[in-house]
Amino acid sequence: MALIVLKFGGTSVGDTCRIERAAGKIAQEVKRGNQVAVIVSAMSGVTNQLVEYCNDISSTHDAREYDAVVSSGEQVTAGLMAIALQKLDIDARSWLGWQVPILCSDVHGKARIEDIDSSKMLEHLQGGQVAVLAGFQGVTANNRIATLGRGGSDTTAVALAAALGAERCDIYTDVDGVYTTDPRIVKSAQKIDKISYEEMLELASLGTKVLQTRSVEMAYKRDIPLQVLSSFEDTIGSDLPGTLVTREEDIMEKHVVNGVAYEKNTAKVTLLDVPDIPGVAAEIFGPLTGGNVNVDMIVQNVAPDGKMTDMTFTVPEEELDMAIECVKKNTKLKDVEILSDKNVVKISVVGIGMVSHTGVAQTMFKALADKGINIQVIATSEIKISVIIEKEYLELAVRALHTAYGLDAV
Ligand code: ADP
Ligand code: ASP
Ligand code: MG
Repeated sequence: MALIVLKFGGTSVGDTCRIERAAGKIAQEVKRGNQVAVIVSAMSGVTNQLVEYCNDISSTHDAREYDAVVSSGEQVTAGLMAIALQKLDIDARSWLGWQVPILCSDVHGKARIEDIDSSKMLEHLQGGQVAVLAGFQGVTANNRIATLGRGGSDTTAVALAAALGAERCDIYTDVDGVYTTDPRIVKSAQKIDKISYEEMLELASLGTKVLQTRSVEMAYKRDIPLQVLSSFEDTIGSDLPGTLVTREEDIMEKHVVNGVAYEKNTAKVTLLDVPDIPGVAAEIFGPLTGGNVNVDMIVQNVAPDGKMTDMTFTVPEEELDMAIECVKKNTKLKDVEILSDKNVVKISVVGIGMVSHTGVAQTMFKALADKGINIQVIATSEIKISVIIEKEYLELAVRALHTAYGLDAV
């Protein structure tokens, strides 16, 4: 008998029919003799609606109350899933984050899981009961509800799998695996059978939303086999050809570039006339960290006259106002002119093979140039190259790069 964790995303529980369909898959795993813990997301569209309600009343709402509101979607699905399982004569109950408990940091809206005491849930699982846990939520040391950032149910699933010592963690979603790029943009994208934790981590952190970044990070650290599977097929986890996220050494076939990712949720800030003196970067980015702004790419030029220079950085769109406010508040930067641009997107190519190949960046620059796409910012690491371009070229750029790196299905 194995203990397994299954997660169903928003589209997979988008209405009561789909919840019953997902319950059927869970029932199959139970009938095979497995102990099953299930994580559910809110029904598709619900979290967006809840976020909108908060913003309608106030765009500077209390983050603790935002969490009280947006965590409620998962509670509904957890209860409905337990009812659907009971209808199939499966013993099941719902669990909320605080009932487990899942202890989180108090960074509301993007809290991190600090500890899961799974002992109570384990007793129920060992008694043959299916546990249906509301994803995306936990409780802080102050006894407040916190959420884990958008897409956070993936992280709940992997964290629970780690806490329970589960044999595997299956992520059921609306595509049948991880593709070389978003299959909704590039029809010739190819499904990847096995991908390394490192590559998946880069792809996720660069915007591939099929898995939340922290879920991959945790699976990597705790060596948890993670599968991405379609909830729309009739067969279940162990029989489905989805994508397995696993250790690099378990992967035979290696490509120079394995995937193309895009991140729409990005904004560019440029500071003009920044004094080119020691400590100025700390002056700018210290308060941004304090304001919980996630700075991504940073570019600083050398001052031609040795006195003044420009600094460009990118942040998530919803953190742009806060970023500008942090810079404006700093009296030492009062002469700096601030420009901002939301009309940008980040496009990245990722592949472990880049480490040992040259000319990978040139292929990217040439492919974009051939389409007349201007590159505004470039950043590289060992296994990725990212560029910032104008938003309207997103699809054109993704398609061009997919072709340029030979990723199109033939
Ligand atoms: P869920 O609601 O199940 O959590 P998400 O919407 O968060 O699902 O993630 C699944 C979506 O991720 C797919 O519908 C697909 O459009 C998108 N996606 C983006 N890039 C990729 C990729 N490289 N491979 C697979 N799906 C991708
Ligand atoms: N419901 C949350 C969201 O839409 C969490 C999740 O689905 O993973 O972001
Ligand atoms: Mg998701």
